[in-house]
Amino acid sequence: MSGRAPKRAAVLGCTGSIGRQTLAVIREFPERFTVTGLSAHTAEAELRRAAAEFSCAHTALTGRDGLESLKSVIERSGADIIVNGIAGAAGLWPSVWALEAGKDLALANKETIVMAGSLIPALAARRGAKLLPVDSEHSALFSLLERLGRDNVTRAVLTASGGPFRETRREDFAKIRAEDALKHPTWRMGKKITVDSATLANKGLEVIEAAYLFGFAPSNISVAVHPQSVVHALAETACGALYAQLSPPDMRRPILDALSYPEASPHNGFTPLRLGETALELSFFPPRLADFPMLPLAYRAAEAGQAACAAYNAANEIAAEAFLRGAIRFTDFEAAVSPVVSALSGKRAGSFDEIFAVDAEARSEARRLIADIGGRA
Ligand code: MG
Repeated sequence: MSGRAPKRAAVLGCTGSIGRQTLAVIREFPERFTVTGLSAHTAEAELRRAAAEFSCAHTALTGRDGLESLKSVIERSGADIIVNGIAGAAGLWPSVWALEAGKDLALANKETIVMAGSLIPALAARRGAKLLPVDSEHSALFSLLERLGRDNVTRAVLTASGGPFRETRREDFAKIRAEDALKHPTWRMGKKITVDSATLANKGLEVIEAAYLFGFAPSNISVAVHPQSVVHALAETACGALYAQLSPPDMRRPILDALSYPEASPHNGFTPLRLGETALELSFFPPRLADFPMLPLAYRAAEAGQAACAAYNAANEIAAEAFLRGAIRFTDFEAAVSPVVSALSGKRAGSFDEIFAVDAEARSEARRLIADIGGRA
């Protein structure tokens, strides 16, 4: 590394959970990384502080300047890698702009792949840009596949913490309120993804993401509930052997891996698991599919194709917002999302514009269903 210029990173969504942790990682390795672009949606003071700290000249406040302002941050910052930590469907266009500019993309925005997984990897390949997943499971799977060779892996296993209601009886689900769902046992994250972890919609989105990113049929992706969140993913080879990636739950690790790629991550002061020195029990369970219908519904969407996946994502986002403001119950997610997936799965989704049309229709359809559900309650 000595003598090489630091890698230049633009961090989009720098005041969110992923953005802050990305800046924390960069702060630790000033000789390796610099920040040349930053964006936030509305947190102007925090954006200014970060820009001052990292002497970053290119910034955008999308809540004031519009989403398009990210285009100039991506293009003018001279970044080698764009970290997309924007929450929700708003993160898709910045991913497209980054790849069109030929920039490597460290992707924490799941929606980019769930909504447009049929287009994004091909776009990256055309522009010679690398897609580097920042989700812990996909980061783990990415490194397993790099080491084993994609062609040698027949199945993938994503682990799930199971969320705060892993052991809650179904009879008690109707009593769950937003504040209960926001208490995640192992990860500290934003509100929407924490609700998604409680319903297992997050794992559903991750199944779709893994299918598109790594070219697995959905039926060749398993989900194992693993409450310790130490094993992040496993890869199975033709002979039935399983290879796993283990590390304590800390998002800074996949962030550092993505920033460092293709080099190995430097030593980062994390305490590794010392198996054989301390006791460590790991357990794995099948997910309760009948009690958490958002997971099997994601498989159905993944099998049905891109429009169904975009519809699943959009309707789930609307349902999560409704749940957070108390407009629907925890048990209403399926009723708010499943009919939208069925209704829109036959739509065309061969271009970004068609995908956004499906996204918009799914949102309005989900809002209509949620109004009905609220009216009945
Ligand atoms: Mg994850």
